[in-house]
Formats: sequence, structure tokens, C-alpha cells
Amino acid sequence: MQYRSTRGDESTGINAAEAVIQGLAPDGGLYVPVHFPEGCLDLKRLPGISLQEASRFVLHTMMDDFPAKQIDASIKAAYGKQWDDSRITPLSQDKAGNYYLELFHGPTLAFKDVALQLLPQLMTRAQKLTGNQRGIVILTATSGDTGTASMDGFSDVDGTQVAVFYPHHGVSPIQLHQMLSEPGDNLAAYGVEGNFDDAQTNVKKIFNDKQMEQRLADHDLQFSSANSMNIGRLIPQMAYYLYAYGQLAQRGTIQLGDPVNFAVPTGNFGDILAAYYCEKLGLPIKKLICASNQNNVLTDFFNTGTYDKRRTFTVTNAPSMDILVSSNLERLLFDAADGDVAMVKKLMDQLNSDGHYQITPAMKDYLDQRFVADYADEQQVRDEITRLYQEAKYAIDPHTAVASAVTHRYQINSHDDTPTVIVATASPYKFAETVYHCVTHRNDLQEPGLPAIKQLHQALGGDLPASVQALFDRADRSEQVVEPSEMEDAIAKQLKI
Ligand SMILES: *Cc1c(COP(=O)(O)O)cnc(C)c1O
Repeated sequence: MQYRSTRGDESTGINAAEAVIQGLAPDGGLYVPVHFPEGCLDLKRLPGISLQEASRFVLHTMMDDFPAKQIDASIKAAYGKQWDDSRITPLSQDKAGNYYLELFHGPTLAFKDVALQLLPQLMTRAQKLTGNQRGIVILTATSGDTGTASMDGFSDVDGTQVAVFYPHHGVSPIQLHQMLSEPGDNLAAYGVEGNFDDAQTNVKKIFNDKQMEQRLADHDLQFSSANSMNIGRLIPQMAYYLYAYGQLAQRGTIQLGDPVNFAVPTGNFGDILAAYYCEKLGLPIKKLICASNQNNVLTDFFNTGTYDKRRTFTVTNAPSMDILVSSNLERLLFDAADGDVAMVKKLMDQLNSDGHYQITPAMKDYLDQRFVADYADEQQVRDEITRLYQEAKYAIDPHTAVASAVTHRYQINSHDDTPTVIVATASPYKFAETVYHCVTHRNDLQEPGLPAIKQLHQALGGDLPASVQALFDRADRSEQVVEPSEMEDAIAKQLKI
């Protein structure tokens, strides 16, 4: 299977191992399959399939240049004892009959662990497969969770260095603690004076800077990305949609072939794109519900066909979704434009220069058939956490609450009674401050961060998951804060180049 850039012709095709190492295409586009293996999924395999088996199928299909043995070894290393639930991504059902696909049982308590426990496995093997001798520098912009998850995944992995840039003042106290206390000699995290988009824009710029590339090459190094722009991030995420469908079939909620909806709390559009790719493989999906927070640029886009980032950026209680430029949307546009790379490039250039673009009616129609979109503001997020806890004694984090609130409204307004899986992307403990207020209605929180976790634990009862407990035993390094213009220097210093 070959991958090509969304902005380049088919002849730019490379195999999956090379695409994983490169991360972003040199022309600034994203790698997508040259020929998507449409409809190759045999639904009969799905009932009761384990997450690991689903992952094996996805990797064999989408990364067929990796030998089977290496795929198996990678999966074994990624989905083991570091998860606090042996099912890895359990599907729970609340008393009201909605399904929550819990993707937060990994070491950093958010869904990004599913991909980022696997990506280092794939990347180090890709290095050997392609005969690449260079050290890999993982350069990552994060709204909070990618940073912690990449640091954990790559911690002390041979031949890799990690530089993470997060918005200073834009991440939660627990996310900050996780980044500052993650053990590993090859890791560094920097606060950027700016928001996530500032960090991401500059990371992309550094990534595509030819001079910097040469400087790294002179020291036998090369950049790669752990953001969901990397297919090695995106493709592992497809597995849990197959798993969830298999669970619903196994439990008799659906018959094989019946459609389901997935509601996804969306930021950079990676998670929901993985669901859409599953649909292309043949998974019966009726609607993908794209749920945004107050930074609702995607809601407006899906409803009007105009993408317009010229709006106020809001730091919300669901910070991992505080994004105005959703990078992975480019892959969907590529399909909606039927592979017209000139069109994709034109739209992306317009976004860069003018801050907005409009898609054609045909493209809009392609999206309308598959997606619905809505958003929840901060108060609606809090109300949803409270509602679900009162009705079902089920505690959800603010990101999950965005999708849950949007789904609730969608079901009432559309009368769509298709079984719906809400993707639960973070543990309630990761955003303990917000969740504590919503479930207790008390204002007696002593301090944010670890003390809030303790108080939330008292309120919820039950056992504290091991990865949450582990946070109490780690000490923070001091925070390093840089201006966007100083990011390149910080990397050079870290790499000693
Ligand atoms: C990253 C993240 C999201 C958004 O996922 P995208 O793939 O960027 O759309 C949602 N919730 C949480 C908790 C996250 O960490």
C-alpha cells in the first residue's frame, strides 16, 4: 500500500514505513492512501473481536509493508500491562442506553495513548525496514494530551528525542504535571507564549524549514511528528471503532450490517477521521457526529461549507479541543474533492493567506451525507457532566461531555434512534477540577491538580486507577517557557546541534 501527499500527484507515493518516519509530506500536505482498500472489511470477523485483533487487521490492511511478526510484536508491546483495563478500550453503557467507548485507560489518561503507545513501536521498526540510520526527533505541538502521551510512548526509546510545545497557560494543571514529571532522558517540553495554533503553526514551519533540515542531517538526525498528521498516529485509532462495532454486535444491540453512529469530541479532526476511514473500509456508519466546544469553527464549516478561522480563540474547560485550524480536515477535503490536489492546495493556501475558504456544492454534499456537526459551550459541558452523573452515576470528563451533550441534542432534534457510541476521550480524573464541581455542586476545592484528584476520588468512590495513582509519586522539572520565535533555538539547544 502506497501513500501520497494530499497536495502532490500519485508519483510521490511512498510506503507506510517511510510515511511514518516522515510524518508530514515535504510539500506541506498530509499522506493519504493512493488506493484506499475500500470495502475490504469482512463484518463477520467483528463480533467479540478484541482491540488487539482489530488493531492487527487495521495494520495488516493499511500498513502492509510491515511484516506480520513485527505488527504482532508492536501490538503486544503497546497494549499490555500499562493499561488499567485488560480490554484496553472498554465499551460501557449508561442507564439511559447510550454507549461510551472509554479510550482513557492508558498511562496518560486520554485517548491519544491508544496510538502513542503503538507509534514508537512502529517507528523504530520502520527505521529498520527502510534502512534509515538517522536518529529521529519527534517534534510535536500539543493542546495538552498529545504532549504527555508522546512523552510517555517515546520515553527512553533508543534513537529518538522528543520536543513538545504546549501553550503556556493553555493546558490543565494535571497535563502540565504529567509533562514536567514524565521520566526519560530523551524528553523535553516547552511552554510557548501563545495558543495551540501558534505552537502548531510554528512547529509546521520548523518542520518544513530546509536549513533546519540540513542542520539536523549534518548530525544524522531527522524530524518526525507524533501529531495526528502522522499516519502512524491516525491508523492505530481505527481499531477501536471496529472493536466498538464488534461489541454492539456481540451484545445483540445490532445485527451485523446495521449502521451505528459515532459521536466524537473533535479538535484536530484526527479521531473522527479514523472513524471515517473505517467507514471507507466498510464499517456500517450512519452518521459521524462532529462535536466541538466553543471554538466551533468545524460546526460552522459543516453547516455552511465555509471554513473561517478569523474568530476569537477561547480557552475552555475542554482544552484539548481548543483549536481553530483542524489539520486533518485536509484529508477529508482530499476525498470530498475526489482527489483533486490542485483544489486542496488552493483551499489550504487560502486558509493560510486569507484565514478562510469555501468548498464547492459537490464537496459540501459529500460531507452532508456522512457528517453532522454541533457544539457545546462551557456551561452546556458542565450541565451534561451533572446530568449524566445524576441520571446514571457515570462520571465523564469535559471533552466527552462535549460529545455527549451534542449527541443528546441531536437525538432529540433529529429523532435518529440509531445506536450511538460516544467516544470518551479522557478520564474524569484528568480534568478533576471541572468534574468535581459538576458532580458535587460544592465549592470547597482546595487546590487544582493533584489535590483536586483526591477530592474527586472521595466524591466518586471506588478504586483510583493505577495511572492516576502514579501521578502522586512524580516530581516536576522546572518549566521552560519560550516565545514562538525562540522555538527553533530551543530545539537546537536540546539536540546540541
Ligand atoms: C486530542 C483530544 C481530542 C481531540 O481529538 P482530535 O483527534 O484532535 O480531534 C478530544 N479529547 C481529548 C481528551 C483529547 O486529548
